[in-house]
Amino acid sequence: MKTIELIVPCYNEEKCISLFYDRIKEVFSDMPGYRFIITFVDDGSKDNTMNEIKTVVERADAGKVQYISLSRNFGKEAAMYAGLSKSVGDYVAVLDADLQHPPELLKEMLDAIENEGYDCASARRVSRKGEPMVKSALSKAFYHVINHVTVIDLVPGSTDYRLMKRKVVEAIVAMSESERFTKGIYAWVGFKNKWIEYKNVERAAGKTKWNVRGLFRYAYSGFLAFATTPLRAVIYFGMFIVFVSVLAAIHVFRAALKTPGERTGYASIIILMLFLGGVIITILGMIGEYLARIYMEVKRRPIYFERESNIDDNVANDEKKH
Ligand code: UDP
Ligand code: MG
Repeated sequence: MKTIELIVPCYNEEKCISLFYDRIKEVFSDMPGYRFIITFVDDGSKDNTMNEIKTVVERADAGKVQYISLSRNFGKEAAMYAGLSKSVGDYVAVLDADLQHPPELLKEMLDAIENEGYDCASARRVSRKGEPMVKSALSKAFYHVINHVTVIDLVPGSTDYRLMKRKVVEAIVAMSESERFTKGIYAWVGFKNKWIEYKNVERAAGKTKWNVRGLFRYAYSGFLAFATTPLRAVIYFGMFIVFVSVLAAIHVFRAALKTPGERTGYASIIILMLFLGGVIITILGMIGEYLARIYMEVKRRPIYFERESNIDDNVANDEKKH
């Protein structure tokens, strides 16, 4: 029997925990033939969340309910990592406690993995109804920029809600960087993923943990975690200034030849300043480029992940010895 494990990050979700469990229970009863584990990750909640989780653990009659409680609020990214790194399920899903990620989609996700040959299935929000307009507009701009300047391809409306096979979980956990941006990591690890669309749902209870400042920080850190292009832009900018200073020099020199007379020397000083400024910016950009490589290197990301292979590692190692 295969095990499906649900990782649920919770921060101040006292009103949602038992609602969440009841909804999940209904979904489970529709999916016989699987063992279920629910892992609540309490991300240093300051309200009654932990007691609510313990109550659910006690009354749980569908699946096994367990929890990890973090020592303080580390943020959703860290909470998801904690849950994923401790997970044991054959299939693992990450979903929000506030029921904004409809648990009913799990069936469709499972079907994609078991019957359609996918490694994972992710939820994609196609309507942003009930969300402030500013948030939608900003998030649209974010996707536009990040897709242009980074190696990863983010699909607009993509969420952290995803069901995946064990090997995908292991790949995600192997990305041990501490500045985490899960949507980017999902895209970076690859594997065959099916997008499952759903309409935005309002929170079951409680309120969102996000504010504009938090979202900006999230977008910025996501951007920096995958982009090194801004530094390259600095090099081009420096080269452009050098080019302009050379053009200006030619122009001034020709004008000087045409109209003889006394010179103030302003033009040459300005051109020289422009030239030197451009050279310095170019060099800074180059140093930045090395810095970017060091930055990417210190993340110690794996070089590749394997999807399939018919090489038996044990046999290969034995042969090496002989
Ligand atoms: N969350 C968390 N740690 C945090 C903030 C949020 O674990 O520091 C959890 C939260 O409990 C919820 C999920 O992350 O299960 C999504 O948060 P929220 O619903 O506030 O975000 P929104 O859906 O508004 O984007
Ligand atoms: Mg939410």
